[in-house]
Amino acid sequence: MRTPKDYTDNTGKPNWCPGCGNFGIEAGLKMAMSKLNLDPDNVALVSGIGCGANAPYWFNTYGLVTLHGRPLPVATGVKLGNHELTVIAWSGDGDAYGIGMGHFIHAMRRNANVTYLVGNNTVYGLTKGQASPTAEKGQISPSTPFGTPDPNIDPLALAMSSKCSFIARGFAGNLPHLSNLIAEGIKHKGFSLIDIYQPCVAWDKTHGYAYYQEKTFDLATVNHDVTNKQAALKMIFDKSEKLPIGIFYKEEREVYEDEQPQFKRGPLAHRDIENINIKAIFDQYSF
Ligand code: SF4
Repeated sequence: MRTPKDYTDNTGKPNWCPGCGNFGIEAGLKMAMSKLNLDPDNVALVSGIGCGANAPYWFNTYGLVTLHGRPLPVATGVKLGNHELTVIAWSGDGDAYGIGMGHFIHAMRRNANVTYLVGNNTVYGLTKGQASPTAEKGQISPSTPFGTPDPNIDPLALAMSSKCSFIARGFAGNLPHLSNLIAEGIKHKGFSLIDIYQPCVAWDKTHGYAYYQEKTFDLATVNHDVTNKQAALKMIFDKSEKLPIGIFYKEEREVYEDEQPQFKRGPLAHRDIENINIKAIFDQYSF
């Protein structure tokens, strides 16, 4: 069996602020990969832009750091090219729910077979803490000293309405819970969203470790039925006292690569391209 250390690239160390919640996500992901005994050579980790987006440098899996908001189209392409790989995309809330919002919705409705980890810290940490789309109305940040005037986005509610087949939320300060959640997301055949409460110790002093330790409870402790859409919506919208973490909703449905006729003969990455002649196509369309 592999251990979390077996997924570490030893050529450098994360440059996150001491205490950053990204360390919890990194550890949770490595623990999940070791629980599933994944071969690092069969894993691709794809990120966008943001503090967490440098993570692929510190894993010894395949890795791609892409553009702001764009990890999902690239991760979807990787999975379509070789759907024998385990494909994991890693974003922050600004990356995923701001500039990447369109890709987020389309990847979910297509059921792209990708696990999506989103570190949700309510700010754009890399660019000095501007309020992100998940900052609640009135939240003070360096860009909103009088409180943000905009209501926040609820990513889990959007996931429900976008036909996401696995919807979960974790907390970067609860590693046993988070690593189990990530392992379940990776095992799920289809798109799995794991939104993760991720304290930004530099720019958001309100939503720290103590806040989430006090406020969160595990959905598994209240016998939540993960196949019941109404129950999932109730848990997503109920913001009264405590914040639920765990799996909100899960269903099995056809995944993106299974619906594409061109992949019926197996992954593109394994096809023999020696004897392919595309001259006839060029001749047909050349002027
Ligand atoms: Fe982490 Fe915030 Fe520092 Fe970025 S700015 S590394 S999110 S603590």
